[in-house]
Amino acid sequence: MKEYVTEIIRIDESLIEEGNIDSLKELPVLQQAAELLRKGELVAFPTETVYGLGADATEPEAIKKIYRAKGRPQDNPLIVHIAGFHELEGLVRGSLNPQAERLIKTFWPGPLTIVVDKKETIPAETTAGLDSVAIRMPAHPLTRAIIELAGVPIAAPSANKSGAPSPTRAEHVYADLKGRIPLILDGGPARVGLESTVIDVRSEKVRILRPGGVSREEIRELIGAYLHEPGDEGEGTEKSNMIEKPLSPGMKYRHYSPATPLYIIEDEQALENLLQSGLEGDIALILSEEWAGKYEASLRDSKVIKMGPRERPELIAAGIFQLLRHLDTLSLDRAYIEAIPERGIGEAIMNRIRKASSRK
Ligand code: AMP
Ligand code: MG
Repeated sequence: MKEYVTEIIRIDESLIEEGNIDSLKELPVLQQAAELLRKGELVAFPTETVYGLGADATEPEAIKKIYRAKGRPQDNPLIVHIAGFHELEGLVRGSLNPQAERLIKTFWPGPLTIVVDKKETIPAETTAGLDSVAIRMPAHPLTRAIIELAGVPIAAPSANKSGAPSPTRAEHVYADLKGRIPLILDGGPARVGLESTVIDVRSEKVRILRPGGVSREEIRELIGAYLHEPGDEGEGTEKSNMIEKPLSPGMKYRHYSPATPLYIIEDEQALENLLQSGLEGDIALILSEEWAGKYEASLRDSKVIKMGPRERPELIAAGIFQLLRHLDTLSLDRAYIEAIPERGIGEAIMNRIRKASSRK
């Protein structure tokens, strides 16, 4: 693999806050990023979900570089990012059904990805050989400006090494991909902190393939009975869906496995049992503000890492990947993490935590 001197360039946060895409497009560094993308090189940049590793989605050689730089399994397709609704026409074969139309009108730009039948413009390399393609319009003004300047749809998985937690800060990208890519744009911490929700909109009923930044409840509120629910006819177990006939190939991977063995504390009874068992070894308990406060007295001898308030799961989401990266720097024997309610963004948080956990 080619060796790069990886440049990391900070973008003035006041410019991002204003969200003026046209003035962002004037920045020389964004033009440099777009130029690299057009030449078939990789660029890492912030999005509102996590940091992405971008390449021209229409260029097989550029796409192969993504798989090499990340060490990503060849059969795990990429999400293609666009900056405007009009770009859909060049990518989607046939027309979107009314459910899909309503969903993208409501949640785009934002953390929702739709899986649709693809046109030839998107090569097999991008979709791991599938006839479908996953598409998202990100909300982050910097991402939008880069896509507009590049003038092509941009394939962008999370900018981490395969197997590591998704990066939510530029320094996470640098730690994983230093020397493997020419440029990282630093736009501060990612707002959502978890990846997008991936939905399949190819049939009348919409299926959630991966929970993420847009919640099941929000989708249900919009399309009601057109959302395929667990237990609906034709629905297998989670295991059969994800492993035997993976609808979303990426879901069969563990995603990342922290070096620290991680166990889930399913409820307060489990926490009480754990505390009574007299925890031995070098361990940490990862708890919400609420549980850390309530059990303060019995936790006195334990190392506690706070993950944020149960009442504000969006704050837990924003910090969870950073927390998992931090955990692995502590060289602990093991760690225990509190389960939070699987409502709203809590469903996506627990999906990632369960994937990161060691099964007993
Ligand atoms: P990542 O970019 O690493 O956040 O992962 C992208 C996710 O989208 C993975 O879970 C992929 O399996 C899923 N995905 C991408 N393209 C498709 C597709 N054509 N059909 C189903 N799932 C897809
Ligand atoms: Mg990823």
